[in-house]
Amino acid sequence: MTRRVLIAGNWKMHKTTAEARAWCRAVLDGLPDPVACEVAVLPAYPLLPVVREALENSPVRWGAQDVSAHEEGAYTGEVAARQLADLGCAYVVVGHSERRAYWKESNALVAAKARKALEHGLVPIVCVGEPLEVREAGEAVAFTLAQLEGSLEGVEAPDPGRLVVAYEPVWAIGTGRTATPEDAQEMARAIRDWLARRYTPEFAAGVRVLYGGSIKPGNFAEILEGPDVDGGLVGGASLDATRFLALATAV
Ligand code: PEP
Repeated sequence: MTRRVLIAGNWKMHKTTAEARAWCRAVLDGLPDPVACEVAVLPAYPLLPVVREALENSPVRWGAQDVSAHEEGAYTGEVAARQLADLGCAYVVVGHSERRAYWKESNALVAAKARKALEHGLVPIVCVGEPLEVREAGEAVAFTLAQLEGSLEGVEAPDPGRLVVAYEPVWAIGTGRTATPEDAQEMARAIRDWLARRYTPEFAAGVRVLYGGSIKPGNFAEILEGPDVDGGLVGGASLDATRFLALATAV
């Protein structure tokens, strides 16, 4: 099964309305036609209407960085999957390591968010990855697969195109330290093998497995050479339109 490379830019808590508009304009101006890969941007919630206006009817899709596990109601500060769907989101990140670390999100909560996203037609990008001490202890694969198992509890995507897994080793996020292409491929392969056991081999063959962690134009092409690595979740290097374009055209 062919899997289209996905490059998703996670803006985290960056950019104003004007900065978001300028980024969208620059990316649309610079993207080749046709684009070889799928491109998406994941801004903070208040910027979603802005990027929708700028990117509608373009090849660039958009999504959110998190979603509530609840349907709707008295959950102050939360944002519902139906609200994201209403804003035209294609994707939503669940289980980013920053949310796991700072908001103590559990695997069970991440799975509930993924299920809620799917219910509303959003594609969850389920993030998993080990901290440094786990990698140094040689336990990275076992740790990450256990995290994946918990984060996909009860998650049934209607087809493999509706689920994305992002392997993001915690020690590589925002640190300038990147996994080697071999390590990224080893983990992506282990994730796909696990998905084949959890779902079916056919389903696993269609799920995109991304790498994330200090991707930049200078290291991305090499990481993408791994046959099981289907793209990147990009933080810092997505903020600047020129650097993001360099990634999108590295495919
Ligand atoms: C991320 O936050 O998902 C990420 C990969 O960040 P960075 O590219 O900055 O390491």
